[in-house]
Amino acid sequence: MRRFEAVVVGCGVMGSAVSRSLASRGVSVLTVERYGLNHGLGSSHGKTRIIRQAYAEDPRYVPLVKRALASWQDLQEQTGVPLVRLTGGLMIGDPEGPLVRGTLRSARKHDLEFREMSGRELGEEFPALRAGSEVSAVHERTAGVLFAERCIQALYERASQDGCEFRFNEPLYSWRRRAGAIEVSTSNGRYVTDKLVICAGPWTGRVMGDALPLKCERQVPLWFDSGGNAAFMPGKMPIFVAEEGRRLFYGIPDFGDGVKVAEHHAGPPVDPDFVDRRVTDRDLASVAGFMKRRLPALDRRPVASTTCIYTNTPDTHFVIGPCPGDQGVLVVSACSGHGFKFASVIGEIAADLLIDGGTRYDIGFLGPGRFARGG
Ligand SMILES: Cc1cc2nc3c(=O)[nH]c(=O)nc-3n(C[C@H](O)[C@H](O)[C@H](O)COP(=O)(O)OP(=O)(O)OC[C@H]3O[C@@H](n4cnc5c(N)ncnc54)[C@H](O)[C@@H]3O)c2cc1C
Repeated sequence: MRRFEAVVVGCGVMGSAVSRSLASRGVSVLTVERYGLNHGLGSSHGKTRIIRQAYAEDPRYVPLVKRALASWQDLQEQTGVPLVRLTGGLMIGDPEGPLVRGTLRSARKHDLEFREMSGRELGEEFPALRAGSEVSAVHERTAGVLFAERCIQALYERASQDGCEFRFNEPLYSWRRRAGAIEVSTSNGRYVTDKLVICAGPWTGRVMGDALPLKCERQVPLWFDSGGNAAFMPGKMPIFVAEEGRRLFYGIPDFGDGVKVAEHHAGPPVDPDFVDRRVTDRDLASVAGFMKRRLPALDRRPVASTTCIYTNTPDTHFVIGPCPGDQGVLVVSACSGHGFKFASVIGEIAADLLIDGGTRYDIGFLGPGRFARGG
């Protein structure tokens, strides 16, 4: 049976980032992935993801995302492939609502550069968007877009160069502790490892034997034709998140395939192996209503769409840390719909935890132990 110091399960953005960080630190790594690189059945596929630093969800994410952005930019420099484009970002909503207040809280706490804008100012400066006096916005210069599949390709290539062995179309079937090591069984055979890193995205619950309270949710991002209107291009239109009551919508300017618009956390619960991949008028309805109010110049007939899966925890924070009961098993997952941007730093953190037994980053609020019984 072949032995590796670490086996990584899954090669979405988390698995590829962890593989790259471990391999760059000289660890012998095997990464097994059930499908191909950048397949479309999990959570990481597609051209773009938002990166933003003034983090409304919790200021504890800010040091993580600062490091993540620097790390994506380093990777971009090393590979010469465009991975990041800072377009600026707008967080739009009720001035007293959680999005605007949370963004300001994080920006102030971490001395980030930002501008507060009224709805009227916003419409004047960014003609793609219409906003009235009922909303305000926070503009952050250092927000933008990650080119998702290129990021994963770059992580995969760096990890391969550093000796990581990737096995695609090789699902993990099971794993168990045995005589001080972990025995891993896949469709191709068995391996022995000291450390197992579970980066299985929507399938994490299954690989963990349902030890975590994770719920998968179907999501449908949509693309709309900008008609070449400069107002919707990256030089003029920032990425945005807009809060309307309890609903959140987000958008990404036209990088050549249309303006991306979606509602965040709007989908039904799903089993990741049985996701309805057909996109219907029902998926479009709330986004079209939002566009009528905030992006009125855009043709509301989508030119493209896809389905994707969020893996949610009850508190919407990630799960990163050793498995309660087995320090040799690390869970890196459950990004609750906002994890892509962090993958580069999360890879580094996973390597810290596996090699050094700790990390300088504050990840206490992300540990799987918080879901332990009574915890
Ligand atoms: C529509 C959408 C929009 C999003 N927008 C943003 C955004 O703008 N900004 C942001 O930061 N985040 C965003 N996210 C969240 C982000 O994309 C995810 O958090 C991230 O991609 C999760 O990556 P992952 O590697 O954990 O999961 P995945 O990409 O799903 O990877 C898990 C991998 O594990 C493999 N696997 C599972 N089981 C096994 C097994 N038994 N054996 C072998 N392999 C296995 C799967 O095949 C899969 O490839 C968005 C997510 C979605 C769905």
